[in-house]
Amino acid sequence: MYGIALDLGTSGFRLQLIDMENKDIVKTVITTRHPLPGGNVTDHLDFAIRVGEDIANDIMIKTIEYMIRKLPIKSEKINKIVVCGNPIQLSLFQNIEIRDLAYAGKNMQKRLGVEDIERNLNIYYGKDIFVSSPQLHKCEIIVLPSIKHEIGADALAMMIKTDFLKQKKPALVTDYGTNAEMALKVGDRIITGSAAAGPAIEGQGIKCGMLASPGSICDVNQEGDYWRIAVLDQNMLESKGPLINPVTGDILEQGDIQPLGITGTGIVSVICLALSTGLIKNLPNLPNGKLFLGEAIEVNDKDIKEAGKAIGAIRAAHLTLLIEAGVDYGELEYMYMCGASGTYVNADKARKIGLSPGFVKNIVQFGNTSLALAKDVLLGDIELQNVRKLAHRIKADHHMMASSGTFKEIYTCELAYWTEGMPEEDYDMFMQYYKLPKIPPLEIAPIIEKRATKDIEDSGYGGVEIVGNINIIIEEETKGCIECHRCERECPEKAIVNTNKNGNIYADYVAHRCLGMSCKRCVDVCPVRAIRYRDIKVLAM
Ligand code: SF4
Ligand code: SF4
Repeated sequence: MYGIALDLGTSGFRLQLIDMENKDIVKTVITTRHPLPGGNVTDHLDFAIRVGEDIANDIMIKTIEYMIRKLPIKSEKINKIVVCGNPIQLSLFQNIEIRDLAYAGKNMQKRLGVEDIERNLNIYYGKDIFVSSPQLHKCEIIVLPSIKHEIGADALAMMIKTDFLKQKKPALVTDYGTNAEMALKVGDRIITGSAAAGPAIEGQGIKCGMLASPGSICDVNQEGDYWRIAVLDQNMLESKGPLINPVTGDILEQGDIQPLGITGTGIVSVICLALSTGLIKNLPNLPNGKLFLGEAIEVNDKDIKEAGKAIGAIRAAHLTLLIEAGVDYGELEYMYMCGASGTYVNADKARKIGLSPGFVKNIVQFGNTSLALAKDVLLGDIELQNVRKLAHRIKADHHMMASSGTFKEIYTCELAYWTEGMPEEDYDMFMQYYKLPKIPPLEIAPIIEKRATKDIEDSGYGGVEIVGNINIIIEEETKGCIECHRCERECPEKAIVNTNKNGNIYADYVAHRCLGMSCKRCVDVCPVRAIRYRDIKVLAM
């Protein structure tokens, strides 16, 4: 029989098929985007609340069924699926209450009657989740538990799979992604938080950006007057790309592999190198507004701004946790970096630009801890009851960045630094003005240990299949539409088309491409308010 470990991430899903007899990983299937409209958890929540949780759940389940169809076995042979992810993704997967996660205020939650939602370990039959896939009806589905309602199974995974819980000295752990989950341990106390970093951290929302996948630029280094571009190969290992003059685009040597785009870790390297070599004198301005990294691959000022907002949000959240816990910056002993971005990024470059605290003494890099925990539970390497007990035992407080005055003040400094070219001295001055401790200069070189070379260390003998085109169409009838097609022209992602079916006009959206309610340009541009983005139904894939 076979089992599946499933990680429902905010920027995409990752699934591994495992042969339960010999514990071999057979194949890995990943999506390059989340199937719901939007690039972050807030967009996903907005979508589910606006159009209905059933619709959001249906899209997610159809996507997982599609991924399962990519596996080289009959679905009837799958007898167990273990699922990990953040509370929003796991709630949408189970089609359970999400409003407590959308509305932070206790009064609002009380008015809605959604207080104290428990997100414990849940076990289902396949028929309860994969209703329209009878071949999965007998399969057991295990949804891993949250620590508290806002501190999810993904946070539990990053604590269990690293040495974080064993640390006696102050330690931080962060799962770098669109929504950067983080936790600080000080003695027996754990404080968690999350920074809605946005998709730039994973290479999305960047002109030539792409997720960490074969062909993506993952690092850049100086070689004489040129930059050597490092590119991920088919096995997700770093290979030699072109040697290029980043200002003129002159290619001196083609290298072994041509880049197709740049991932978030590549952007971090570009910023670090451009700052250290003086190509950036004033953020976010690049020479002539752009740098060349390959034929038709460039990074521009807007990309630097987008990445800066993400890096700034994560640095502000890290500092906020330390300040709120009363930890002096110099006391921070360990930083654990998890997730694809945390694994592939050059840790020294990351700390130099603020993605991890520049003053930490030790940095340890891990891979995808959510998928790893799901796999451990599936194979019985970690007893399910122990995971349940640990989730109960960990006493963690959650610091809401959205309502934190400290976070707001630091993030204001970060935005001015990254997007308006505010000098570091002025940053320090504002921190002093807000009575917050100044960030120390980069004096100590930390010990860096890389415990994973890939975010998914073993993708199985069947390799990785990347599903780029999920292709779920959602449809809304646009009554009163005058077929002007302005909405199509306005859409930045080419995600919408107007169709006329027997005189009834519809807007058809490609769900995974649509940016959702943080965009809404099609709604705003419609001259007759025919688009409401509300009465949506899902068409079959
Ligand atoms: S903008 Fe409005 S009226 Fe024009 S095609 Fe789109 S839905 Fe129809
Ligand atoms: S314009 Fe409309 S369809 Fe296009 S990305 Fe924005 S919200 Fe989605």
